Amino acid sequence: MPTPLPTAIVGSLPKPSWLAQPEVLWSPWELEGDTLIEGQHDALRAAVQEQELRGIDIVSDGEQTRQHFVTTFIEHLEGVDFDNRETVRIRDRYDASVPTVVGAVSRRKPVFVQDAAFLRAQTDRPIKWALPGPMTMIDTLADRHYRSREKLAWEFATILNQEARELAAAGVDVIQFDEPAFNVFFDELKDWGVAALERAAEGLQAETAVHICYGYGIKANNDWKATLGAEWRQYEESLPLLQRSNIDIVSLESHRSHVPIEVIELIRGKKVMLGAVDVAGAEVETPEEVAETLRRALQYVDADKLIPSSNCGMAPLPRGVAYDKLSALSAGARIVRDELS
Ligand code: ZN
Repeated sequence: MPTPLPTAIVGSLPKPSWLAQPEVLWSPWELEGDTLIEGQHDALRAAVQEQELRGIDIVSDGEQTRQHFVTTFIEHLEGVDFDNRETVRIRDRYDASVPTVVGAVSRRKPVFVQDAAFLRAQTDRPIKWALPGPMTMIDTLADRHYRSREKLAWEFATILNQEARELAAAGVDVIQFDEPAFNVFFDELKDWGVAALERAAEGLQAETAVHICYGYGIKANNDWKATLGAEWRQYEESLPLLQRSNIDIVSLESHRSHVPIEVIELIRGKKVMLGAVDVAGAEVETPEEVAETLRRALQYVDADKLIPSSNCGMAPLPRGVAYDKLSALSAGARIVRDELS
């Protein structure tokens, strides 16, 4: 029987300081060429070992081989000019320097499949791999070719599906699509966003997840959150659509956020990956705090469908803090597991 309340991280972990500048999001690599590949693999090994030591049940790569959760994928595609960068407003919230689509997009070779096979070889535990979702991809680049967000999203959905099928064949148990844009662009979400996501997740021999959040704990996001009022009800737009979708797991932000916990009722029947440690501050949760968040969630989701996790990626946190949060997460899950048995 699988462990009840299996813990997982959403995506990134901090990188070692010899690989990339610590506590900086999207910081450039400190190494290059073959030394960089070797360094990324060593960092990935360390991330796996640390997750296992800290009691994480579904192991991820901690994004140790990517600089950015979206653009690293895009930069491997045909039709994208990575040197020709433009500064655009993303998530309707902050400016970022992004690559430009200059022709038809296609995937000339696998992007993360080798890295995923490497991760598979490091652990016997179930593994999860995150890919950007189609809507978040188109919101993280400049398009000088298709000039239609919907059309480009469909192209990306097809490419993502190719990559996801190969990740599953490489032994990935859970394939997660990151769609923070689902909390921002509600009309597109309804028109084609969920449909494009389902296209990306079609026919996979793996469980599928979608992660929707309020972003990393960076200033632009924290400032945005301060404008959202006492109750964050953005999930009410996406969850009813996802409840009817082919996606197995929905990953949500909860702990220390203003999301009303009862929104998870809107995805009844789906598995819920619930953020039970926060990523916006360096203060480490106590196991009891984590347990309390999980107990509240269990009023609305069955125990065999709850996956305790972090709210979002942990890349910008001090490394020790991130690891201690993993320990708190698994200790909190253990408390609630014992109460259930
Ligand atoms: Zn996130």
